Amino acid sequence: MSNELRVAAPVEVSVIERLKAAAGPGGYIDDPKDLEGYSKSWRDDWKGAVPLLLRPKTTAEVAALVKICAETKTAIVPQGGNTGLTGASQPHADMSEVIISTSRMNSVREVDVANDTMTVEPGVILQEVQRVAADHDRLFPLSLGAEGSCQIGGNISTNAGGTQVLRYGNTRALALGLEVVLPSGEIWNGLRSLRKDNTGYDLKHLFIGAEGTLGIVTAAVLRLFPLPSATETAWIALQSPEKAVELLSFMKSKLGEQVSGFELLQRSVVDLVLEHIPDTEDPINGRYPWYVLTEISGQGAPGSLSELFTDTLGEAAEAGLIDDAAVASSGLQGQKFWRMREEMAEAQKRAGPSIKHDVSVPVSKIPQFLAEASAALEAAYPGINIVTFGHVGDGNMHYNPVAPDGWTRQAFAGERDKVNRIVHDLVVGHEGSISAEHGVGRLRLDENMHYKSAVEIDMLRTVKRALDPDNIMNPGKVIRL
Ligand SMILES: Cc1cc2nc3c(=O)[nH]c(=O)nc-3n(C[C@H](O)[C@H](O)[C@H](O)COP(=O)(O)OP(=O)(O)OC[C@H]3O[C@@H](n4cnc5c(N)ncnc54)[C@H](O)[C@@H]3O)c2cc1C
Repeated sequence: MSNELRVAAPVEVSVIERLKAAAGPGGYIDDPKDLEGYSKSWRDDWKGAVPLLLRPKTTAEVAALVKICAETKTAIVPQGGNTGLTGASQPHADMSEVIISTSRMNSVREVDVANDTMTVEPGVILQEVQRVAADHDRLFPLSLGAEGSCQIGGNISTNAGGTQVLRYGNTRALALGLEVVLPSGEIWNGLRSLRKDNTGYDLKHLFIGAEGTLGIVTAAVLRLFPLPSATETAWIALQSPEKAVELLSFMKSKLGEQVSGFELLQRSVVDLVLEHIPDTEDPINGRYPWYVLTEISGQGAPGSLSELFTDTLGEAAEAGLIDDAAVASSGLQGQKFWRMREEMAEAQKRAGPSIKHDVSVPVSKIPQFLAEASAALEAAYPGINIVTFGHVGDGNMHYNPVAPDGWTRQAFAGERDKVNRIVHDLVVGHEGSISAEHGVGRLRLDENMHYKSAVEIDMLRTVKRALDPDNIMNPGKVIRL
């Protein structure tokens, strides 16, 4: 991973002064020390530098700043909580860009309970969106490990997934309307709160998942759902991914859409959490090769799903799908199980580098993919270790090979391209995706260009050039022009 994709002239001092004047006191940061944290990634794997970060408070302010950038052809990196994992929210190292942060645009504009919608500004932290929804007896189901610091604008721009996609879909399914400042500085008001609207191309979908390359999202209408009043959670030990896929199918046939979470975890990642994260404990005594963390939720009195849940798991055990299970006896214990899952990214970070993949294949193909990938990597790197975990209920796995015994992690990192090719060829062979939820950014840029057809790349370039002819919006990310 490097920053070589962009070598452009630093932003001119006269432009910086113009942007500062437009932003006003308190509307920018220009101290190099203070800018450092905004210019590097959560994992410390991407580091850049900018002369200026702008902090507008309103859509009109964003539009005014973008207009200056458009006029002067100054590149912009839109930024939310800066928790993205693909190098898309950090600048390049050449001082040729400015960051526009949406963190001060953090109001909830409206909650329409009867319409089950909420209109928010992009800087609202995801956890706050969830809390406001719950205050209105509604659920905003997007949930992921970074929810205490990521912002809804970033979630929209990465089309974030998380743990509830199985039941509620990803962010694309949760956003009904958007307001966007285009690279020209014009404002597109697409803040519709409709479930039905067939009036031509659905333009919002261009901006969802665009990783800030087509415009800056300045507001969104989000879908809300009934707040479940009964929830059951279990930590399940089993022998193989085959058993996990069979269990998922079995649970769905018994429990229908009440199955709201289904995460597959390899023993190796459970060990990492226990080793690196304080105050964690193994939910089940003994060691098993694989685990499933599952949750069901619905309406009714607390505990009303308990019997159905334990009966279903009991039947699954009789059918030979489950070796052991711990059903959470309280909400608190359920949270402890989820904490084990949520800390997996942090535990991996503390353990040191691995070669990370965020892939999806059809759920039915997961066992075959995992077996083939492990065999191919073992053949290339005898003794290789693999850490697998993910939202397997929707086919998404974080598949992270770690240095074989005898290699340093750093030396193994040098094999990244070769390892990526082994894993991604298999993924694509199963008609899967090389980036299921984190996006492309810079991390997957070359891989994306490699696997997409010429026709698709041509369409993507046409869209980018039409909306951003001077390539000022997050250049060098997602697509090579
Ligand atoms: C511990 C941890 C766990 C995670 N778990 C998951 C997970 O389960 N599922 C998942 O999908 N992701 C996950 N992520 C990745 C990340 O949290 C998400 O991608 C999140 O949606 C990013 O939000 P953010 O506000 O931090 O965006 P940023 O990192 O600031 O930006 C992400 C991208 O969006 C663009 N952007 C930000 N705001 C705007 C805007 N207003 N308009 C236009 N473009 C904008 C940026 O330019 C960048 O390209 C995880 C990350 C961490 C650190």
